[in-house]
Amino acid sequence: MKVIVDEAKCCGAGQCVLIAPEVFDQRDQDGIVVLLEPEPAGERHTAVREAAAVCPAGAIHVDEDA
Ligand code: SF4
Repeated sequence: MKVIVDEAKCCGAGQCVLIAPEVFDQRDQDGIVVLLEPEPAGERHTAVREAAAVCPAGAIHVDEDA
């Protein structure tokens, strides 16, 4: 699995950080998403998929085949 975030789309809602804090963080100054783990370990995949699903900006893309 490979995770891609679109900083330009992110609105800083922070849902992804609440669901998968090991994979996503937010910049202190403006709350824009910071990707901590572009290739998360298997035990995080469910949380990453959930984060992508709830992101209100559609800013998280998950490539399942990578
Ligand atoms: S949930 Fe989406 S909009 Fe909110 S911080 Fe994460 S990537 Fe940005």
